[in-house]
Amino acid sequence: MGLGLSGVLPLSTTMKKRKLEMILERLEGFSSPKPSLEQYQTPATIASELLYSALLRGDLEGTVCDLGCGTGVLAIGAALLGARAVVGLEMDPSALRIARENARRLGVEVHFVRGDVATVALRGVATVVMNPPFGAQRGSGGDRAFLRKAMETAEVIYSIHNAGSEGFIRRFVEPCKVEDVKKIPFPLRRSFKFHSRDVKIIEVELYRIFCR
Ligand code: SAH
Repeated sequence: MGLGLSGVLPLSTTMKKRKLEMILERLEGFSSPKPSLEQYQTPATIASELLYSALLRGDLEGTVCDLGCGTGVLAIGAALLGARAVVGLEMDPSALRIARENARRLGVEVHFVRGDVATVALRGVATVVMNPPFGAQRGSGGDRAFLRKAMETAEVIYSIHNAGSEGFIRRFVEPCKVEDVKKIPFPLRRSFKFHSRDVKIIEVELYRIFCR
């Protein structure tokens, strides 16, 4: 499989979901994930699911921003599917370095920015895509700053949350509206020492939230 395809083929019209998955699968992950920042890379299957539903609804036509982009899976995937402009925001410089290298290798353009979701000012963003920290290491609520920034910034939000979050999310995002919730299995790889098994399947919820 050729990876440097962008520029050769009009990927937005030709790339199939499975193909996107295969490309995202091969991206470089976190070199030493930081538990305090909940650095879990979104598995390629879930990233493609999220990005494809956004594509099919026309939500990749404006500027897309990946909040807490980590090593760039969602941002790069959005660019591969033809998003007009993509911004990846991340506070960890070592993750950003990997994200930039991942994008460079694939020849896609993503504007990576170092910053904290709580304080950054973003303008002109149509769609936010994100897999925010669930707050598992600090008690619940790690995703609040992400949701707040997404609501302040975007017209439409695609976001991944713990199973059982729907009541909280619906109330928290008002007056934005949860338009769709999909329950999906999430293979959590062993990446932190306190995890005992290699892969643990948890259920997560994929949200589409409409703001304006
Ligand atoms: N979006 C990536 C990474 C998800 S993990 C993916 O889908 O694979 C969550 C990411 O949010 C981590 O990379 C972490 O460093 C980042 N993060 C956590 N708190 C943050 C904050 N306050 N501001 C910006 N990024 C943050």
